[in-house]
Amino acid sequence: MYDIKMVREDFPILSRKIYNRPLVYLDNGATTQKPRCVVEAMVDEYYNVNANVHRGVHFLSQQATDLHEQSRETVRAFINAQSAAEILFTRGTTESINLLAFCFGEAFVRTGDEIVVSTMEHHSNIVPWQMLCERKGARLRVIPMADDGTLLLEDYRALFNERTKIVCCTQVSNVLGTVNPVKEIIGEAHRRGVPVLIDGAQSTPHFPVDVQELDCDFFAFSGHKIYGPTGVGVLYGKEEWLEKLPPYQGGGEMIKNVSFERTTYNELPYKFEAGTPDYVATHALARALDYVSALGMEQIYGHEQELTRYAMERLREVEGMRIFGPEEPHDAVVSFLVEGIHHLDMGTLLDRLGIAVRTGHHCAEPLMRRLGIEGTVRASFGLYNTKEEVDALVEGVKRVVKMF
Ligand code: PLP
Repeated sequence: MYDIKMVREDFPILSRKIYNRPLVYLDNGATTQKPRCVVEAMVDEYYNVNANVHRGVHFLSQQATDLHEQSRETVRAFINAQSAAEILFTRGTTESINLLAFCFGEAFVRTGDEIVVSTMEHHSNIVPWQMLCERKGARLRVIPMADDGTLLLEDYRALFNERTKIVCCTQVSNVLGTVNPVKEIIGEAHRRGVPVLIDGAQSTPHFPVDVQELDCDFFAFSGHKIYGPTGVGVLYGKEEWLEKLPPYQGGGEMIKNVSFERTTYNELPYKFEAGTPDYVATHALARALDYVSALGMEQIYGHEQELTRYAMERLREVEGMRIFGPEEPHDAVVSFLVEGIHHLDMGTLLDRLGIAVRTGHHCAEPLMRRLGIEGTVRASFGLYNTKEEVDALVEGVKRVVKMF
């Protein structure tokens, strides 16, 4: 059973008071809080193990290397990749996508080629592709969106032509909570021989992900959004694709042999991992994945879905309330606006009540433009949030409405 009281005890920060009120942390889409086991793993490694990985013959270096490589295996199992060689450690989703845009672009994108993204992408799944387009004289094509916040798949199919090189789409919108039919999106691309990158930043923390089942070619996510540390993330790539890509950065670790005349590159995944990795963070990320796996991703999904439904239902009690995104399937993010109240005012006043929400464009300006708004107030849920916290949010919103 999902014992929320016990779960919350694993997160010391949740007992903090903000302006003398209990903290209600509803900004999990931006980053999640960390359970003790994650922080303790980091402290323990720095106190007792710390040594650079892969290079040393000495005991500590080997122990640190084992922890780092076992973490890669934990990530592999968590997303069900076929092999640990397909798991690249990066600094986060943003770096994962930049890596792919650079390497894929170098190998496969030429003048006149096209790259498909969707209307609801985070800037980190737009700008790296745009930069690639500028470098190569290629162009972005955009999957349009219906008013309810779902992608228009007929229009998506119509975007393909012989110049389409890759499709890049988020699994869950960080603004709308839309869960995109990525399996169908991938299937459509594969029928035309086009590979697909899925941005899993907002999906991996909330429900089970199986990259083999999805059959995506690339998949990116961030450690800090799934109760792990900042500064570490993952790019999954099918081995057959990664083998075809040139390296990203040059330096130590990514090489086999170096001479002034010629350098040969290391095998996967090291070819893409120049320099000393954040091995303490990779280890702590693995502990975070163990933590959510022990709770059960299905259980987390069930709990958060209940909260999301409850929040949408209760927020609708507020006059002038507009909730964005589709009714179903809708993940643990609720974006809203109340008529006549600026999102920034709402966020600032909720903060005074100890309620942490996010306001603004959520790094999705093209989506804001499509919706004809400047920004929203966004409450995003994590595995430790409660119905009482949703009640606090709703009462807070009502109080702000009264003030206006
Ligand atoms: N993609 C989506 C859908 C996101 O929500 C975010 C962060 O909010 C990112 C990418 C970028 O993640 P990071 O800042 O961890 O690299």
